[in-house]
Amino acid sequence: MHEMAVAESILQTITEQAERLGGARPAAARISCGQFNAINDETMRFAFESISRGTPCEGMRLEIRHIPLQAKCTHCQTVFAFDVYRPTCPTCGSAHFDFQPDAPLLLEDIEFEDPDISP
Ligand SMILES: [Zn+2]
Repeated sequence: MHEMAVAESILQTITEQAERLGGARPAAARISCGQFNAINDETMRFAFESISRGTPCEGMRLEIRHIPLQAKCTHCQTVFAFDVYRPTCPTCGSAHFDFQPDAPLLLEDIEFEDPDISP
């Protein structure tokens, strides 16, 4: 299950960031992934929840953004999101295209709670 490995590496990065910010409490994180390294949202949230229990990351929101695979038409150079059910260029209808590199798995952003609004 690659979600567990991803969750662990994300948890570690967030913990390090929080420490660098003097013990800030993380509130949310945004992750993006491509198609070949896609993560299952539910599995990911479950994995993160179980490993973050008892850490400052417990109860964080995880936003997971799936970036479609991009293809570039060899006929008119249009770059479009590849759709397996309609694998043709949306501009000229050509079925000849090259795949662009898949989007990497990224931890895009971490949101920390504002220390001033603590309850
Ligand atoms: Zn085209």
